[in-house]
Amino acid sequence: MTLSKTIAAAMIGSAVTFSAMAQQKPFDYHVDNFADIEVLRYKVPDFENLSLNQKLLVYYLTEAAQYGRDILWDQNCEVNLELRPVLEAIYTNFKGDRNSADFKAFETYVKQVWFGNGIHHHYSMDKFVPGFSSYFFAREFNANKLGDQAKLDRLSKAIFDPAMYAKRVNQADGQDLIRTSANNMYDNNVTQAEVEAFYASIKDTTDLTPVSYGLNTRVAKVDGKIVEQVYKIGGLYSPAIEKIVENLNKAKQYAENDAQRAIIESLVKYYTTGDLKTFDEYSILWAEDTKSKVDFINGFIESYGDPLGMTGSWESIVNFKNDKASHRTEVISDNAQWFEDNSPVDARFKKEKVKGVSAKVITAANLAGDAYPATPIGINLPNANWIRAAHGSKSVTIENITEAYDEAAHGNGFNEEFVIDAPTSKLLDDYLFITDNLHTDLHECLGHGSGKLLPGVDPDALKEHGSTLEETRADLFALYYLADPKLVELGLLDNPDAYKAEYYKYMLNGLMTQLMRIEPGKDIEEAHMRNRQLIAKWALEHGKADNVVELVKKNGKTFVQINDYQALRKLFGELLKEVQRVRSEGDYAAGRRLVLDYAVKFDPELHREVLERYSHLSIAPYKGFVNPVYTPVRDAAGNITDIKVAYSENYPEQMLRYSRDYSPLTK
Ligand code: ZN
Repeated sequence: MTLSKTIAAAMIGSAVTFSAMAQQKPFDYHVDNFADIEVLRYKVPDFENLSLNQKLLVYYLTEAAQYGRDILWDQNCEVNLELRPVLEAIYTNFKGDRNSADFKAFETYVKQVWFGNGIHHHYSMDKFVPGFSSYFFAREFNANKLGDQAKLDRLSKAIFDPAMYAKRVNQADGQDLIRTSANNMYDNNVTQAEVEAFYASIKDTTDLTPVSYGLNTRVAKVDGKIVEQVYKIGGLYSPAIEKIVENLNKAKQYAENDAQRAIIESLVKYYTTGDLKTFDEYSILWAEDTKSKVDFINGFIESYGDPLGMTGSWESIVNFKNDKASHRTEVISDNAQWFEDNSPVDARFKKEKVKGVSAKVITAANLAGDAYPATPIGINLPNANWIRAAHGSKSVTIENITEAYDEAAHGNGFNEEFVIDAPTSKLLDDYLFITDNLHTDLHECLGHGSGKLLPGVDPDALKEHGSTLEETRADLFALYYLADPKLVELGLLDNPDAYKAEYYKYMLNGLMTQLMRIEPGKDIEEAHMRNRQLIAKWALEHGKADNVVELVKKNGKTFVQINDYQALRKLFGELLKEVQRVRSEGDYAAGRRLVLDYAVKFDPELHREVLERYSHLSIAPYKGFVNPVYTPVRDAAGNITDIKVAYSENYPEQMLRYSRDYSPLTK
């Protein structure tokens, strides 16, 4: 089970570097700050070097991307599209004191709702808690004549009643996950049992190439019967899908080659028919196209937004290949077998033949839907297991996004507060960006694909700990090889000590700094966070006798000190060996022990200290991005002669423009 999107390796983790040369910044990465969020902007390097046809292709794919925004808002919660214009009208027309406490709190709320694509936090899935009064809301609603009393009551309840729409996606064991989740992929009358019974009745379990059941549907009960409302032209979300298709058809005129044209045509066919077999055909064409410079995702892709993991949230990422950086991932993929053969894993669990994962580094040109404003830094698609096995998958690292994270962190005070000494800070300055990227490449291209299950072992044997242990395995594979002289030999690193930057950051993050995202009294729950602590804490404890890593006190503050980097590498190798054994043998009991002993609990005293030290820095736990603005340049006859890219728009401007220009589903 692969989590197909990689989120920033703890947003704080990538916030570690600052460059001594960054006193003068011509490009301002910082856009906005509110609640627990920082909004950044990203550069699109080399856009101007694309051909006019490629620029037009990007432009129309971007237009197609923007028109899907409303779909995601509606999928996230039924009230979102009714509420958004109301919030925006009040925000825009407010005549009172914009510095008053009520308006300030209202503004924060509007920005949070924009960021969450609805009334829930994009990460915790909890409903936002408004800091303004219901009196303020009612007064402004009426002053702006935004609707009748019934509408006001409905929206007030959605905003202010904590029990209403409390959690977008509820995963709590033992509850009806459909009834207790506020998302709109199921209507309010269906139960989890009914949904499960419905899909059990239509699924053909003997099918070796099954479609992704439920991927593009809302499930509802009509006249006592469970039905699927399909997202397609003529079906649910038709006005938005029509605009997406219209722009895909324009983009198609500028396709770089026949393969790309066929991809766009099959996607259009899928949007027109809603047929999931067509979606699989499209996914195969997409996975197999590794030649085109411009590429894109557009559709119902990731299922994190559905408590049952079936329905895809709408998203789009338009991008083009970063040829120079892609050389890195190509070298890694080309040497996949060497890495497999030389890993510390028991020979019984190694793959005799590793299928090279096609990997590339891309430049994002536009983010939309579920990938906006919060966005992944890596993607591995398609999701269907049989397509991955038979046709391969595409693994990408979005380097202009990781670069923006890195650049925006310059001078934020993190190093001074948490890094033990000046030489280590210098090491991070010099090598963290490249080793962080290499870590992601190794994790995505090789880590997940390495190793094999023994015959007869159930791939789901590790059950609820499967995701954590799978991420642990991929991270360990990457960590182990980062320190290998092979990387210098392959020309991927120019200094045999470079890996120490990532090792230090990884241990610091896993043992201390990632705790800043945990509320006091809570455990670590998220799979990636669990895996990072599992690795760091296991290495700390198992290296104790040899004093490999220690937590030391300086002026009353705790610091991570690594005394022997090579010994740390050996520990990563040992743990990799064990985690691969656990996975290959399906040893649930041992896997569970690892997670419970190392990944979930932490020292509350240290947690308090981390939170306290963070509170003096202004580093937001979550980050996201505004998009650049693309504007066609036309000649006298109206022909487009160029596409200009600008980075001028601020956060509310962009959100209001999208709502004004790309809202086919909003009344
Ligand atoms: Zn992963």
